Amino acid sequence: MTVTLDVNAPVAESSTRRALADISLSVAKCKKIVVVTGAGISCSCGIPDFRSSDGLYALVKEQYPDVVMKGRDLFDASLFRDQTSTSVFYSFISQLKRSIDSASPAPTHEFIKRLDNRHKLLRSYTQNIDGLEEKAGLICSSTQGTDLNIKGKSKLWADEVRNIQLHGDIRRVRCTFCSVDLPCTEEHIRMFEKGVPPDCPECTSRSEARIARSARALKVGSLRPAIVLYDEAHPMGDDIGKIQSQDIARKPDLLIVMGTSLKVHGLKKLVKEFAKAVHATAPSPTGSPKRAKRWQGKVVFVNKTPPGSEWSDVIDYHIMGEIDQWIEKVTEDWRRIRPSDWEIQQTLDDDGNFKIAKNKGKSKQKPPGAENASPSGGIPFPSIIIKPGLSAPSSPSKRRQSISHYCDLDSSPRKRRDVAKTYDKASKCLLFVDATNSIPQMEDGFATDPFGSPFKHPGRRPRTRTMSTEMDIKRPRANSTTLRKKRVEIAVKS
Ligand SMILES: [Zn+2]
Repeated sequence: MTVTLDVNAPVAESSTRRALADISLSVAKCKKIVVVTGAGISCSCGIPDFRSSDGLYALVKEQYPDVVMKGRDLFDASLFRDQTSTSVFYSFISQLKRSIDSASPAPTHEFIKRLDNRHKLLRSYTQNIDGLEEKAGLICSSTQGTDLNIKGKSKLWADEVRNIQLHGDIRRVRCTFCSVDLPCTEEHIRMFEKGVPPDCPECTSRSEARIARSARALKVGSLRPAIVLYDEAHPMGDDIGKIQSQDIARKPDLLIVMGTSLKVHGLKKLVKEFAKAVHATAPSPTGSPKRAKRWQGKVVFVNKTPPGSEWSDVIDYHIMGEIDQWIEKVTEDWRRIRPSDWEIQQTLDDDGNFKIAKNKGKSKQKPPGAENASPSGGIPFPSIIIKPGLSAPSSPSKRRQSISHYCDLDSSPRKRRDVAKTYDKASKCLLFVDATNSIPQMEDGFATDPFGSPFKHPGRRPRTRTMSTEMDIKRPRANSTTLRKKRVEIAVKS
């Protein structure tokens, strides 16, 4: 039975708030999340959806009142049988492509990317053709360079592609004859605007090469948008099926379906299969409640309109309201439940190195750079990541970027605590330096970081470095004393 939750529920509605908090906990805890999305997630980017009153179908009718055509017919494979409908289709696609080009990813796209950054995303499947997932940083099934058809590479492809575009990508074109797949350029768009499809460059060059050697010319195909229309097979359908089977076998623990009316047959099937696999991971009602991972095994549907009755045994929660609003709430809860994930995020975004950050979180070591925390100002001194055995950030710009992570003290309670703990150590380090007054290069505020770059540094440095410097400095002192003694002895002798 589907439970409906209003994302705008008043605070007094404690049961709804509790259920929403439980779903946030699932997002924070689950590790193999499958996300399925539709046009609803891109609405806030200014891209119209298909079925609503101001959606694409309604827009088509408004723009082409003389053409007797239902909106849906414009996205049906049969449109290519008629020249007028083909021209209207090309012209309309060119307009849609232009509005997509100027759109930026919504918070929902960023959220999916964040799940992937944390290695929590098993896979994202989308009906959308706008490619905004790629703009958000996810490798998509249509991304340049991914190729399903290379033998023996399918495993690599499956691992790397994070977002499967079930209905293709409007930012690409495909030849109707040789099926070559190319990026959709401005030149193509100008041709589509006129309702004329461009010739395929691959077919053209093959044919011209034959003509040059006096052979018969070959047929030249035309380019069409690389999107999948109704009643049309996906050119990568078999491979997508294999990937879906692999994902089901990996036992996904949470399914989030967002911004789709769940009307398309293929998508219905996909969602039901994933839901079955996800429910199989739910804690057993007869098992020990202590061991039960109560956050596992949920199917969550986020959409303005409710799902039909056929979904009552499939969908556990229908979250009613704006998707971006729910994303904001989940993100806020997730930050609170697992602040360490957000430290990882910051480091990952800045350095692009997930492993370093993750190991630190798990081993509960001091945060990198904590040795350099300011004892007085309350804000730690900017530092590069310093940890024996780890490689140095490769460029000055990366070192500079890592500063922001530790300056952001308000971002998590744990971070504030960790930094506070290190103040004492930093103070001791500073005292030690002042008392011995034995590190001349620190007096002018410069020190050399362990990776050899000169770095503005008001008298503090990592402890290990301080100790080794102390030895370096003491040795010449001892030597000079010995030398002085020797000189005195010589003088006495003489
Ligand atoms: Zn071709």
